[in-house]
Amino acid sequence: MSNLTAKPAAAGNTVQDAAGTPLASVPDMMRQAQRAFDTWRRLAVAERLRYLTALRLELLEALDECVDVIARDTGKPKTEAVTAEVLVVAEAIAYLERHAERILKTRKVKTPLTLIGKTSYIAHEPCGVVLVISPWNFPFMLAAVPALSALAAGNSVIIKPSEVTPKVGKWMEAWFQKAGFPVGTVQVAHGAGDLGAKLIEAHPDYIFFTGSTKTGKIIQEAAARQLIPTTLELGGKDPMIIFQDAHLERAAKGAVWGALTNSGQVCVSAERIYVERPAYERFVALLKEQVRLLKQDDSDDADLGSMTFAPQIDIVKDHVHDAVSKGAVVAYGRFPDERKGETGLKLGPLILTDVTHEMKVMREETFGPVICVMPFDGEEEAVRLANDTRYGLSASVWTRDAKKARRIAAVLACGSVVVNDTIVSIASPYLPFGGIKESGIGSYHGEAGLRAFTYPKAILVDRGRKKSEVNWFPYAGKYPLFLDLVRAYYGKRKQWRRFVRAYLRLLKKS
Ligand code: NAD
Repeated sequence: MSNLTAKPAAAGNTVQDAAGTPLASVPDMMRQAQRAFDTWRRLAVAERLRYLTALRLELLEALDECVDVIARDTGKPKTEAVTAEVLVVAEAIAYLERHAERILKTRKVKTPLTLIGKTSYIAHEPCGVVLVISPWNFPFMLAAVPALSALAAGNSVIIKPSEVTPKVGKWMEAWFQKAGFPVGTVQVAHGAGDLGAKLIEAHPDYIFFTGSTKTGKIIQEAAARQLIPTTLELGGKDPMIIFQDAHLERAAKGAVWGALTNSGQVCVSAERIYVERPAYERFVALLKEQVRLLKQDDSDDADLGSMTFAPQIDIVKDHVHDAVSKGAVVAYGRFPDERKGETGLKLGPLILTDVTHEMKVMREETFGPVICVMPFDGEEEAVRLANDTRYGLSASVWTRDAKKARRIAAVLACGSVVVNDTIVSIASPYLPFGGIKESGIGSYHGEAGLRAFTYPKAILVDRGRKKSEVNWFPYAGKYPLFLDLVRAYYGKRKQWRRFVRAYLRLLKKS
């Protein structure tokens, strides 16, 4: 049995709540997935999409139940379960229904003159069995979106959801079953890291991993040993740059949401907020005003829910301790150690000022409801501070000057930039999503993101009517003619007559 240790997750949930997949069953799962792939890959894209449509309708049918399971398993407010998980999945399916056939279609491409008489195509072939390993912070969206793309592209899929949010994993499994996918096409393996490792050992054809940078490195090493291609969607420490000319009320509301949505447990959270010095004091005041208005309870109207995973609270505390010991000021909220009377995993929001890049809270992923604000002077310093990180996931720039926004966006070292908003680019299936540096390798979403679950197959067709080719044996007398051909074709000016003459003579010799 996979190692499902009893760590408390949200709302008193424990990771033991779902029966685990025995490690011994992994080889059998892999065989099933391989068999299913053989049939699934042969279906036309339109036929595969019919199953995705069924999934979308099943999701709508069970909307309340799905939202409820996500909210209970993670502790996030129901509104966030709908907007940041269900809606994104529904939109991803709608995108695939509209565009997958076109994106995956075999394309005719140009053939160079040097290969005259032939025709070239690029086909997008599915990789085989795709293993999707996902984290606990958006347990539905981050497992479903890559799995759906992989399926549409013709792969069979094994999903290994996070052991911290097992009920969502179980719900997804039933969801796929209800949509009637052929046996083995999509399977869900329930368990912890040891199960993930075992699945990698079983040699899937592709690994799509979302999770921490630490685990990402372990997975990349294991994959490299077997030369399995991967996409790695890892951690972040995203900067938010606010210039004095920005709409400050909007920026403050945006910062509060960007830093505190899902209690800050978002890979693209606004974890570092930089404000241009003349606007700094007013901005901090606006932040406090906005945070004070937040409702944190268990009602349907809650803005803030709870943390999902108890050990994450220790990381948040450690970062805050480290910051305060180095001179940071708690401008709003209670120090995490003074949370007397609070129950469960709820962590109240905190605003920290006087932070520096020597503090963990500005360097490592905090993944908690902590807003860190720091002033800057001018564009150059803003960019330098924003890029001073080992991560490179996302960033946001807040200004009314569109040219400045474009200028800054161009030099930020990260996978996405949002202007005058934050986080939301991940919700667009038309935009690629992925990180650079220690935030990951590769991306998904968008056309390239769907093709990422395929490999390009080059197909070059000759009609087979000539008895020989100019570059085949025998070479006798061909060398000077090829020299001539290269000079005629690639020189300063094209010399067509010389080219044709050399080519015809080569033909004669072939
Ligand atoms: P994690 O790395 O602890 O776990 C992620 C998954 O990997 C889980 O399913 C876990 O069981 C599995 N796993 C652990 N060890 C493994 C091993 N040796 N072999 C195979 N699988 C293994 O991450 P987490 O704590 O669940 O999630 C939070 C992290 O995910 C944060 O760092 C966050 O930034 C990141 N994240 C990134 C994105 C993104 O798209 N870039 C999105 C969300 C979360």
